[in-house]
Amino acid sequence: READAWETRFDLGQTRDGHRVEVAANLGNTAHAADAVERGAEGVGLLRTEFLFMAHASAPDLATQIGEYRQAVEALGERPLVARTLDVGGDKPLPYWPVPQEDNPFLGLRGIRLALTQPEVLETQLRALLMAAAPAVGSKDKNHPLRIMLPMVKDIAEFRAVKIVYDRLLQEIPSAQRATDVQLGVMIEVPSSALLAPSLATEVDFFSIGTNDLTQYTLAIDRGHPELSAQADGLHPAVLRLIQMTVAAAHTQGKWVGVCGELASDAAAIPVLVGLGVDELSVSARQIPLVKARLREFDLADAQASAQLALSKATSDEVRDALGAR
Ligand code: PEP
Ligand code: MG
Repeated sequence: READAWETRFDLGQTRDGHRVEVAANLGNTAHAADAVERGAEGVGLLRTEFLFMAHASAPDLATQIGEYRQAVEALGERPLVARTLDVGGDKPLPYWPVPQEDNPFLGLRGIRLALTQPEVLETQLRALLMAAAPAVGSKDKNHPLRIMLPMVKDIAEFRAVKIVYDRLLQEIPSAQRATDVQLGVMIEVPSSALLAPSLATEVDFFSIGTNDLTQYTLAIDRGHPELSAQADGLHPAVLRLIQMTVAAAHTQGKWVGVCGELASDAAAIPVLVGLGVDELSVSARQIPLVKARLREFDLADAQASAQLALSKATSDEVRDALGAR
């Protein structure tokens, strides 16, 4: 099966009856973008930019960041790059960006909240992303689609705070020097943002659901807890309801929704996510051929039935039993 999947890795992601689901790669380093393309990635659905900040003794300057992001943009050509702005704090401290000692770092200064305490760092990153994805003069690739994604957003106010900076940069940077095909979206990984998806969907360009954190915060189980993490199952019906609400809100506004958490590569979860209407699955590069092969095993109607079945259950064990996945 793995050999068959590898043979067809460049086929588009779609169900057996031809319903399109984009299959993209999660990357922790721009140097791996070319490898992801070689494994059949239709784009990068999550570039975790933390690596770049962790690898330096202070925040990398504009030129350094442009150079790094360009590596991914060039490897991807006309495939989209979804780049997440710096997501540190909580379990991911940055030595040169000290956060006061906190009793609950997972509920503390992290993600976009932390970034907004030093907006100049965020601004440099946004500027670098916009400039790195400018169409190169003389390049055969006419377009480098750039999607900028904000982590840990809890409501529209945080999005708007960033949007003000972003809109100003679009005015400031000459249009020939910046990306022309660009969207600004948010991760849905805090339950409040899923509950408020109808409000967010009117202003953001897209959603990408981070099921790792969304599960952690919905079930109140630390995703890395040595004894409890097995219970932090993204197929929990409470999490699935939040995903359902998110997709419904996005589609009402004509926006797209991806899933970039671990759940996107779970064979049992894939039909459920597709049945809930998810438009893109972003997974580790080596899983891409397998996810594409999994999509071709069912029709959209089967997926919708799986989603309804899952939503009717009361626990994640019941969901997995009903899907024959335990
Ligand atoms: C997530 O929370 O699901 C996610 C994709 O982000 P990270 O794993 O980097 O926190
Ligand atoms: Mg996360």
